[in-house]
Amino acid sequence: MQSPQPTPHDKMMFQLNLRQRGISDQAVLKAMEDVPRELFVTSLDRGYAYRDTPLGIACGQTISQPFIVAYMTEQLDLQPSHRVLEIGTGSGYQAAILSKLARDVVTLERFRTLADRARLVLKELKCSNVDVILGDGFDVPDTLGTFDRIMVTAAMEEIPEALLGRLEPGGVLIAPVGPADDKQVLVRVVRTAEGFDRQELVAVRFVPALLGIAREL
Ligand code: SAH
Repeated sequence: MQSPQPTPHDKMMFQLNLRQRGISDQAVLKAMEDVPRELFVTSLDRGYAYRDTPLGIACGQTISQPFIVAYMTEQLDLQPSHRVLEIGTGSGYQAAILSKLARDVVTLERFRTLADRARLVLKELKCSNVDVILGDGFDVPDTLGTFDRIMVTAAMEEIPEALLGRLEPGGVLIAPVGPADDKQVLVRVVRTAEGFDRQELVAVRFVPALLGIAREL
């Protein structure tokens, strides 16, 4: 049985919740309003798409809680000229949000099934500035170059040096850092002329980042 479609009231409460929880960047709020989250969740979860909660997707992964998506996006301080890298495409929802706020988005996913599905939904939504790549965020292909912003949406025990090296000067990276099956902390790193400035934001819980392309689909 299919759960009901989200209602206009659900969407209004969704926006209200984001504002009440402190999201104030108008462009971020608009992106959150414009991207239909119900297209990124399983058909059984459609009716819950506008609840502020993570939901299960294929391959045992999760689409993040909307507040966290909005918060991480706000913390990235995006400009329309930015080229952005996301590690962990999952459903493609976060990539769709980024696509509204940046020039180009490259997103890496280690499960082929998820990468293929995300590509389809993003195409349907005409997010033509997103490139979904089957790949490993611990081994970002050199050919992808450097980025103004990097967002990691799977928990890493440490932020790899190699990933920090992919930041342009003045660039910002945001990532959940900590043990796989426990709480992590959201870390924001800015690349300065002298090195890297690191700031801890809030406690979060993400699925772990795993090495290599997944062998299952
Ligand atoms: N941003 C997603 C949710 C991310 S869930 C969304 O909006 O729906 C985390 C995702 O990171 C999972 O799909 C997982 O398969 C992926 N992932 C984990 N380790 C990875 C790695 N090393 N490289 C690329 N993707 C990875």
